[in-house]
Amino acid sequence: MGFELSMKDYASYMVKAYTKIHENKEYITDLDLATGDGDHWANMDMGFGKISENIKNIEAMSLSEGMKEIGKTMMSVIGGSSGVLYGSAYLAAAKTLKEVELLDRESLYEVLKAMLEAIMSRGQAKAGYKTMIDSLYPAVKAYEEALRENDDDKTLCEKVKKAAIDGANETAKMEAVKGRATYQADKGVGHLDPGAVTMSYQLVCLMEAVEEKL
Ligand SMILES: [Mg+2]
Repeated sequence: MGFELSMKDYASYMVKAYTKIHENKEYITDLDLATGDGDHWANMDMGFGKISENIKNIEAMSLSEGMKEIGKTMMSVIGGSSGVLYGSAYLAAAKTLKEVELLDRESLYEVLKAMLEAIMSRGQAKAGYKTMIDSLYPAVKAYEEALRENDDDKTLCEKVKKAAIDGANETAKMEAVKGRATYQADKGVGHLDPGAVTMSYQLVCLMEAVEEKL
């Protein structure tokens, strides 16, 4: 059978992701001050906060409408490149869900893959550029591998979480290819990318939401 997530489940995941981001204010801001302009946490917190305020409306929507609403909110509330990238990711996810009432292991994979492709294309970036992609890309690859190997849902969740966290940690070794960190002499080497870390928070919370259904 496998797991099934409704829009209400996804909405409650969004609130948990907001809590996770919200409680890491200092950590994320310090990471961003080391290589960027220090506003990443504030932007993300504002976007996820706005979505959480509107959660009663969102959870009553279809998956496709709910994802679209989340995308529009992110696009208008989150400043900087993150807003456009997350906005595009959610609008792309909404398109994959037109006929879908519940997220299962295949449709959730399609959602994450669509998000990854949207972020790579809109950001003109790929894995290894020291961005949010460095957590999402390995997570999608791990998901793909778990599907191919027919892993059970619990194993799938563990693999995706580990790939997301390891991927974010790997950014410490990477040289930035885009953004402010490229202006620094060391191109940010030695520092984690804050966007990859907040992406890993979301992926871990999402997989935990799946695990609650098992
Ligand atoms: Mg910034």
